[in-house]
Amino acid sequence: MSHLLGNLFILSAPSGAGKSSLIKALLEKYQSDSCPMQVSVSHTTRAPRPGEVDGQHYHFVDREKFESLIDAKAFFEWAEVFGNYYGTSRVTIEDTLSKGIDVFLDIDWQGARQVKQQLPEARGIFILPPSTAVLHERLKGRGQDSDEVIETRMQKAVDEMSHYDEADFVLINDNFDDTLEQLYAIVNAARCEQRNQQHRHAGLIADLLDKKSS
Ligand code: 5GP
Repeated sequence: MSHLLGNLFILSAPSGAGKSSLIKALLEKYQSDSCPMQVSVSHTTRAPRPGEVDGQHYHFVDREKFESLIDAKAFFEWAEVFGNYYGTSRVTIEDTLSKGIDVFLDIDWQGARQVKQQLPEARGIFILPPSTAVLHERLKGRGQDSDEVIETRMQKAVDEMSHYDEADFVLINDNFDDTLEQLYAIVNAARCEQRNQQHRHAGLIADLLDKKSS
């Protein structure tokens, strides 16, 4: 994948850290012709939740279909998370990046590890909640779940957070707007990296370095 023009960002976080809201706000506020961005739509075997749309939130498939896609090497990464399969389509990621569009992967630590192994220049961003109390409050949801269910969610969150040190960047989502700015700063800095600018502005750079034309 050496010809890629877009950047790949891996966003990791425990449930309750505000990751989905941050990605949504990032695209709404900063998406533009000069900064095209897309969130990857994963395949999953879990059932759709109310309001989830096939092809928009996930590609919902059965286990048989998912396993045939694994065999066909269709996934850039895949993992079993909480008893269901989740995976990222290889061809979609490659096509999107090759068009110069930045891609965001909302995946778990197992997937993040696989992506880093294949594409070390992918940037891992880990989003943490500001405190255990805030995380607990967010995981309580609408207060309709038992203590046991909330405790299980907390344990899953701690498991996911224990992998924060595999990411390149760590954001503490205390103030939403500040975290959004930090997230955009990372995306913007990546776009300005020399190897990206060299491709994007090849004509300009050739022109600037052409002594004869002055
Ligand atoms: P949910 O079912 O709540 O949407 O997601 C459960 C977990 O699966 C989350 O941690 C989410 O980041 C992760 N996940 C979603 N899509 C993928 C994927 O394509 N690959 C991997 N490895 N994890 C994913």
